[in-house]
Amino acid sequence: MSEETPAPTNFIKNIISEDLAHNSEKKIHTRFPPEPNGYLHIGHAKSIVLNFGLAEEYTGKCNLRMDDTNPTKENEEYVQSIVEDVKWLGYDWQDRLYYASDYYEKLYEIALGLIRDGKAYVCQLTPEQTREYRGTLTKPGTPSPYRDRSVEENLSLFEEMRQGKFPDGSHTLRAKIDMASGNLNMRDPVMYRIMKAEHHRTGDAWKIYPMYDYAHVISDALEDITYSLCTLEFEDHRPLYNWFLENVAGLPGTPRQIEFARLNLSYTVLSKRKLSELVSSGLVKSWDDPRMPTIAGLRRRGFTPKSLRKFCYMIGVSKADNLVEIAMLEFALREDLNQNARRAMVVMNPLKVIIDNFPEGKTEWLEVENNPEDPNSGTRRVPFTREIYIEREDFQEDPPKKYFRMAPGREVRFMKAYYVTCIDYKKDPRTGEILEVHCTYDPKTRGGWSEDGRKVKGTSHWVSAQYAVEGEVRLYEHLFTKENPEQVEEGKEYKDYINENSLTVLKHCKMEPSIEQSEVGEHFQFLRMGYFCKDKDSRSHRLVFNKTVGLQDKWAKMQKKNKG
Ligand code: ATP
Ligand code: MG
Repeated sequence: MSEETPAPTNFIKNIISEDLAHNSEKKIHTRFPPEPNGYLHIGHAKSIVLNFGLAEEYTGKCNLRMDDTNPTKENEEYVQSIVEDVKWLGYDWQDRLYYASDYYEKLYEIALGLIRDGKAYVCQLTPEQTREYRGTLTKPGTPSPYRDRSVEENLSLFEEMRQGKFPDGSHTLRAKIDMASGNLNMRDPVMYRIMKAEHHRTGDAWKIYPMYDYAHVISDALEDITYSLCTLEFEDHRPLYNWFLENVAGLPGTPRQIEFARLNLSYTVLSKRKLSELVSSGLVKSWDDPRMPTIAGLRRRGFTPKSLRKFCYMIGVSKADNLVEIAMLEFALREDLNQNARRAMVVMNPLKVIIDNFPEGKTEWLEVENNPEDPNSGTRRVPFTREIYIEREDFQEDPPKKYFRMAPGREVRFMKAYYVTCIDYKKDPRTGEILEVHCTYDPKTRGGWSEDGRKVKGTSHWVSAQYAVEGEVRLYEHLFTKENPEQVEEGKEYKDYINENSLTVLKHCKMEPSIEQSEVGEHFQFLRMGYFCKDKDSRSHRLVFNKTVGLQDKWAKMQKKNKG
């Protein structure tokens, strides 16, 4: 990815540069640590590009680590999707795919060490009592009555917890820190809980599972991570992170936690819990529904890895929370697609046109370039016949003043083909629907321009009726009607802002025949209509395309408006 513009500088890069200035041997070792409890979303992409990008830029390493410490919510499907998505984004963890569950034995031993040092104890308060005893921001905590158990008693109780001798929720292992701390995270946080749940990798081997705050820092240290980058909500957890580093002897590394602002994107939600709910409640079809802000959804919609990386560079990394315009994501994509998408003609709402002076049964093959932006993209042959389709909206029987497309008596261009003049049309007398349009063409305008210099104002795309491939096109709008669906009015929840019109399916589109030779995931620019991507639901003679984005750049427009 070195051909790309490097990420602009940011406060994390400044910290690293300073560290390197003091110690040129300092290793840059980061990690991306997703919990496999859902599919990755565009917010995770920000973290992936940051972590892998830094490793690349400073010739360091970045690990991929599954933070799999909550067996009831995690599974192998999610692991696979994470692996696929990070790879697809263009990053390589080499042989360093790790799992927190790989460290369960080690984590257990380290916990024993803390117990022996008098720094951890087994507590028998119920979850409710534990919460009560913790106190609040204004009220100090109350020490657990089990806080001063002997080391021996703690060791044997912890061993019995592991053996499954106690029911779920009856015992925990807690770090012995400070019940009066102003930071609630330091009030004897839970390190282990009993949970007799089947883990997707370790099966039923474990009856106790480590908590995130404990497992995460120890995993970082065991992998000799030097910079542990996380989102701002973990700022208050940093003292606890450092407490474990200071109180566990013999760890191979001393990672430094640095927090940055998470990505928030307009008209969508970025939380696995909510995205998971959208899937399970049927509000979207699947995790890779093209309306979803998941990497899988964006890929299916037609976003490219390059465009997502570019977007992540554009938004930068800082400590300030904000809401990024979804139009900016589309902006990052358009340039890539303009350069790389094949062109094709597709009529979404077909209206039949008969060219009366074009011989019946004749096919004229027109040579058309595949992509004018790419001289190496070659050409394709597009058939022109007596009966063709144009968009319904490209004809009006009684047009308003500024309408330049086809109308009775008017001459327009059929893109890359001929000038045609409308001479007649048929209409359903009952409904007023236009049934067909009759035209004549001027054979001396082949290619769509006239030798005598005669100009026309309107241009239509078209597809031969005889050769058209039937297809379906899916059009999308934002998933939510509210710019920030995370901020809800009283008595409402984010799901109340779902956009009922987020999906429109056009089932009877007419597509030029060259389009049949294409791969699932291939990008097209449908002339005049926007960018589209071939969907996995496609069958032969029954293609399905997702609209990725329109041709118009809304973000550049917004920028202009903001300046002006
Ligand atoms: P979610 O809130 O969607 O459940 P999470 O933080 O619980 O996200 P993890 O799987 O734990 O999900 O996240 C893996 C990494 O991605 C973490 O380091 C986390 O900080 C980062 N991350 C998650 N969401 C965002 C976001 N919106 N912007 C930037 N980074 C994010
Ligand atoms: Mg998390």
